[in-house]
Amino acid sequence: MTAIDPVANLSALIRCPSVTPAEGGALTALEAMLKPLGFVVDRVTATEDGTPDIENLYARLGTDGPHLMFAGHTDVVPVGDEAAWTHGPFSADIADGEMYGRGAVDMKGGIACFAAAVARHVEKHGAPEGSISFLITGDEEGPAINGTTKLLEWAAAKGERWDACLVGEPTNPDQLGDMIKIGRRGSLSGTITVHGVQGHAAYPHLADSPVRGILSLTQALMDPPFDGGTDNFQPSNLEVTTIDVANTAVNVIPSKASASFNIRFNDTWDADSLKAEIIARLDRAAAESPLRPARPPVRYDLVWSERPSHVFITRNNALIASLSGAVEAVTGREPKLSTTGGTSDARFIKDFCPVVEFGLVGQTMHMVDERVAVADLETLTRIYETFISRWFGHAAD
Ligand SMILES: [Zn+2]
Repeated sequence: MTAIDPVANLSALIRCPSVTPAEGGALTALEAMLKPLGFVVDRVTATEDGTPDIENLYARLGTDGPHLMFAGHTDVVPVGDEAAWTHGPFSADIADGEMYGRGAVDMKGGIACFAAAVARHVEKHGAPEGSISFLITGDEEGPAINGTTKLLEWAAAKGERWDACLVGEPTNPDQLGDMIKIGRRGSLSGTITVHGVQGHAAYPHLADSPVRGILSLTQALMDPPFDGGTDNFQPSNLEVTTIDVANTAVNVIPSKASASFNIRFNDTWDADSLKAEIIARLDRAAAESPLRPARPPVRYDLVWSERPSHVFITRNNALIASLSGAVEAVTGREPKLSTTGGTSDARFIKDFCPVVEFGLVGQTMHMVDERVAVADLETLTRIYETFISRWFGHAAD
């Protein structure tokens, strides 16, 4: 009845086929875990033209501060080749101490454990001296338009304020206790198109090869390095992810060439200063291209992809110390405080309150045979329960 068993919680969630954008019964299953604990549950459907409607869930226990938010998603990526799974992707079968299913680690497992941790805390101490809320989206693995951002705005508009947030994404590379994420790099993408003049490959003076220009421009983006890294972040890194000419003839100089790039950047930059640096590099390379001697500057245009992700770092000691201390108390291991990896919904939450991320071991996420060690579910539940106690100031228990 109560949600104290993370294994039962997770099997209920895995059995819901909630591949984005389908709710699949997963939020209903979560609601059934939270309501008996005293949570007030809101189901919020977000809509936007051109994207599927998405069901989200916000649940709060308590009315006072301090207010701790747990954030995550019940949607999962597609199962891929279903026949290749050893156990069905929505079976929640347990074999050799591991539970199988899409979302086992990313991240129904994190939700199952946090619900269990809250249930145990309530059972031992009664309702927390403050509030705990769940902010759960069904649109993290998809376009993320009708998910966390809209749910945060919806909750903030009705007066919700939070003091801290824990995101339950799988943050550990190998073993539970490896890594807490205390920030994320930013991400910025763009596409350059170089305009040339089509012509015969034997008469290059009559044409203007855009291939020469695109090579100079992409080289300037990749070299020299943007920075050497900072105290909390690895060096910023730009990858040219595609170069396209779409030319099928070896004896024709094409008329244009394009290239796309993505840069993961640290706190040396913000999106604006980084855009300025990239444009300066491109302009310089366009003027000085050694592959086009005695030619006018390369003619190019640049289109930025919409919505860059901003870099952030969390510096809330009570939050980081409570979580880090809880991980160490339960596992005996001191977690690394990291900012590596891709972006997550934490990038939206950081505008509302300090946010950190800690969850299961990520090794099988998005793979065939996604699975979680049953023992890890118990360990993560104990970490979360200890974290809740410490954060609310019950460290003596
Ligand atoms: Zn995830």
